[in-house]
Amino acid sequence: MSVALINHSCLPSVIVTYNGTMAEVRAVQDMNPGDEVLISYIDLLYPTDDRNDRLRESYYFTCDCQECKTKSKDKVKLKVHKRSDPINPEVISNMVRYGRNAVREFRAAKHQKSPSELLEICERSLDKMGAVFDDSNVYMLHMMYQAMGVCLYMEDLDGAISYGEKILKPYCQLYPAYSLNVSSMYLKLGRLYLALDRHSTGLSALKKALAIMEVAHGKDHQYLTALRKEIASQK
Ligand SMILES: [Zn+2]
Repeated sequence: MSVALINHSCLPSVIVTYNGTMAEVRAVQDMNPGDEVLISYIDLLYPTDDRNDRLRESYYFTCDCQECKTKSKDKVKLKVHKRSDPINPEVISNMVRYGRNAVREFRAAKHQKSPSELLEICERSLDKMGAVFDDSNVYMLHMMYQAMGVCLYMEDLDGAISYGEKILKPYCQLYPAYSLNVSSMYLKLGRLYLALDRHSTGLSALKKALAIMEVAHGKDHQYLTALRKEIASQK
């Protein structure tokens, strides 16, 4: 079966990785004979409306998987601060609109502005959204992830770690169990800790990445051989 023919679901049963030019398909959920093999075409971090916007823009269809029908994760993905008197729904929906715009505007700015200007854009939007959104809100996570990237580019390791540490836990909760977004965050953080001589923290992060990749890439993948070597060389 050609990988290009596998249908999309926001609750994918398999993950596709490449070993050289060979596409490999592995189950990331318990599957029974006859279950449809489904992959995700898109980043699964985002709430249902955003995911379907992306699917319509790039693939010309709307998803009707269980998650798109129930939107069961949307509420945690759009988490707002708990207040004694709840935040006005209009304030929340305005902030969601602001967040979606911030994502789009940053994407455009990325190729035009300097790193310090980009960092400022991130911080400004995090400040504004932080008045309403919890740190685990996906629009907060999106801007923190961008800020982490800019810090890495500027070789500000401490800055990158502080963003990464805020991102990691919500990532683990919001992404599916075996997610390459999560394993790559563990890899980045693990290497940052090691670069700053935080040995045991770094090693344990790399091992968490390894555990996800063993399922997603398979135990014999060249990436795993390399990562095991990297871990062994640290001991
Ligand atoms: Zn869906």
